[in-house]
Amino acid sequence: MRFEELPTPCYVVDESLLEQNLKTLNGVMERTGSKILLAQKAFSMSTMYPLIRKYLSGTASSGLYEARLGHEEMGKENHVFSPAYREDEIDEIISYCDHIIFNSFSQVEKFKDKVLQAGKKVGLRINPEHSTQVGHAIYDPCSPGSRFGVTAKNFRPELLDGVSGLHFHTLCEQNSDDLETTLNAVEEKFGPWLSQLEWINFGGGHHITREDYDIDLLEKCIKRMQDQYGLEVYLEPGEAIALNAGYLVTTVLDKLENDIEIAILDTSATCHMPDVLEMPYRPPLLGSGEANEKPYTYRLGGQTCLAGDVIGEYSFDQPLQNGDRLVFGDMAIYTMVKNTTFNGMPLPAIALKDKNGDYRIVREFGYENFKTRLA
Ligand SMILES: *Cc1c(COP(=O)(O)O)cnc(C)c1O
Repeated sequence: MRFEELPTPCYVVDESLLEQNLKTLNGVMERTGSKILLAQKAFSMSTMYPLIRKYLSGTASSGLYEARLGHEEMGKENHVFSPAYREDEIDEIISYCDHIIFNSFSQVEKFKDKVLQAGKKVGLRINPEHSTQVGHAIYDPCSPGSRFGVTAKNFRPELLDGVSGLHFHTLCEQNSDDLETTLNAVEEKFGPWLSQLEWINFGGGHHITREDYDIDLLEKCIKRMQDQYGLEVYLEPGEAIALNAGYLVTTVLDKLENDIEIAILDTSATCHMPDVLEMPYRPPLLGSGEANEKPYTYRLGGQTCLAGDVIGEYSFDQPLQNGDRLVFGDMAIYTMVKNTTFNGMPLPAIALKDKNGDYRIVREFGYENFKTRLA
């Protein structure tokens, strides 16, 4: 199928771009002997797992369903973290995963025997209380009162029996300089116990596939933990795996004017790209400029009733026409996984652009997907 034949709205994942990212990540693994996992919460398009499996060590899961998906579709190492596990799910989770990471000593005490009996590894999430993010409190697990990870004050070394590794996750879209200072905090607060453990998991938030990412420093950080403490090092980025590897294709439905020019698209920020509002950020749009950079500027908005369902202001060389296709970039991660059908909006189709440049629809959705989720 050709690009023009794709239905809209439609997510398109570009296999070549995804593979480029995977090669970058695999290079880190090869040079350092560390293991990199796909954090499925950012990108769970299982159609791509056979490709991802060639380059990465496995999956990181946030709970039962992701654990099952990783087990069934990736079939490699599968690590799981949850702020608390349910008693009626833990056995199934253990059956799918090899590393079960707990958020508190009480959860360790409650479930560790089951994990060890199954021959699986017990991990503990720590909170190094080292905030490296400015102005992003909802993405900062080190903020005051955070529910994530055991702090130094609550750390109980006498309860480490059976725990083979530590996990921290404190970064979000960050470079390796922030990882380095985080490791300093980890060593300062938890250093005395690192040598008695087998592994450490640096979590996600490492923007490894971004152009300006300092991979050398990342590798120094990995080697430091390996050499100093004999630890096996895991990383579980989500974003970095499919960063800039997908698009959202949408069609202009109508144009209006209310002191500014406005265009209504057959997509929605809140339903199809919620991070645009939550993060918030302005997604790239192919062939466009900043507001007023090119001659024709429009505010682009969605079909829902939400006044704030606005993607942003963009400028173009030509006036937009009804029926024009617009292509937003960086739409593989934290998009499909966060979709809603608010206002009865349809879910975008999911398509693949293969290495020959051909397009193929992988999944389409309809009315039933809306109706059956609500009752
Ligand atoms: C969100 C998350 C990740 C992945 O984070 P990215 O920012 O997508 O790289 C990894 N591990 C844990 C525990 C997470 O919560």
